[in-house]
Amino acid sequence: MSSNSLRDADIRYVLHPYTNLAAHEAQGPFMAMRGEGIRVFDENGKDYIEGMAGLWCASLGFSEPRLKEAAMRQFDLLPFFHQFSHKSHEPGILLAQKLIEMAPVPMSHVFFANSGSEANDTVVKIVRYMNNALGRPQKKKIISRQRGYHGVTVAAASLTGLPLNHRNFDLPIEGIRHTSCPHYWRYGQEGESEQQFTDRMAAELEEMILAEGPDTVAAFIAEPIMGAGGVVVPPAGYFPKIQAVLKKYDILMVADEVICGFGRTGKAWGSQTFDIQPDILSCAKALSSAYLPISAVMVNERVYEAVKKGSAEIGAFGHGYTYSGHPIAAAVALETLAIYEERQIFDHVANVGPTMQAALRQLETHPLVGNARGIGLIGALELVADKDHKVPFDPALGVGAQVVARAQDEGLILRSMAGDIVAFSPPLIITESEIEEMMARFNRALSAVTASLA
Ligand code: PLP
Repeated sequence: MSSNSLRDADIRYVLHPYTNLAAHEAQGPFMAMRGEGIRVFDENGKDYIEGMAGLWCASLGFSEPRLKEAAMRQFDLLPFFHQFSHKSHEPGILLAQKLIEMAPVPMSHVFFANSGSEANDTVVKIVRYMNNALGRPQKKKIISRQRGYHGVTVAAASLTGLPLNHRNFDLPIEGIRHTSCPHYWRYGQEGESEQQFTDRMAAELEEMILAEGPDTVAAFIAEPIMGAGGVVVPPAGYFPKIQAVLKKYDILMVADEVICGFGRTGKAWGSQTFDIQPDILSCAKALSSAYLPISAVMVNERVYEAVKKGSAEIGAFGHGYTYSGHPIAAAVALETLAIYEERQIFDHVANVGPTMQAALRQLETHPLVGNARGIGLIGALELVADKDHKVPFDPALGVGAQVVARAQDEGLILRSMAGDIVAFSPPLIITESEIEEMMARFNRALSAVTASLA
């Protein structure tokens, strides 16, 4: 099909996720036709550095032949089997074993799903199931955070703490609470040190738990670094303080490692970077370098034992997806994890991450940049109208979106989020010189928008 026909058909037939549908009819799609390394190419052959690795996910870039070969081998051997009612298959078993070996803390069992949202929906159900089995049916509430992102299925969207995911969807569901977002630069009070801010975050969590009744709160869920909520890096000492509160009231710690898992922060897990000891961990995205949809939920022994007890009483654990542990997706994930090890990808992130972080920090002298932050290969710039007073732009101006649109003209794909926050999350294979090229393209875009606003 010609690219014009494709464009017309897209407008006519595709209901686009996360898109202003009316605007799309006028604007039409951006179509990537092929990929190579950290780049994708449009229909005219123009190259774009994928500064977001797609959706924080294509960790090995867009042309890793070994992942294709792993998929083809599994296609030939056994393209589908499942894990319901005692059935199993080799890639599903080996992947569960590998994840347990890699886990940041001792974990017991792995449940597979197809997306981050499904993984987090599964977490909600496991937490409910566990507490019913333990004979404490009142202990069900889950505390998430404002601006946290945990997906879009009904329960996962409820965990998400962003208005866009609740408004008009009649969410959140019952039993979900949102505590404060730990964004020190934005929400720290006049004269409040980072340490004092952390203490306040922990105190606010404890107040919420006490107000709800500790025997009604089952779990707390958090991303090590908030992604879609604006790349919010936790303030110093945040997770140890939060976990001390959770321990006091027998509340499970759930780490949503959907973005941070598999090297994004320069270690295998964000939990290792930020001193988190999760009872339950969800992961997806870079698990398969996004080449096929697969996600996983790891649970520790205590959670597993409770779920096992419940399933023995009822007759079965009544939860599972047709494609839980899909053999081709699992084979691709296994190969992805093998590549991470062989090429020492997590160390590579720790080595090149500082180059990207330094380039972002350097931009803090720019008149539009209020704050630069990040670690490893995840980072963001928060754009403001008045740096000295951290005054945001009028959202109607869409300054973040303008910068991202201009970056696309310059051959760089980025993402802007609420609050004119521009995110960077390139493929983990990016080299130093590619980071420099990415930042050069970005700087040209930022200069152009700055000039247009003057
Ligand atoms: N959790 C986090 C931290 C995410 O960033 C995302 C997606 O971006 C999800 C969950 C949901 O994953 P999915 O889009 O695969 O459902």
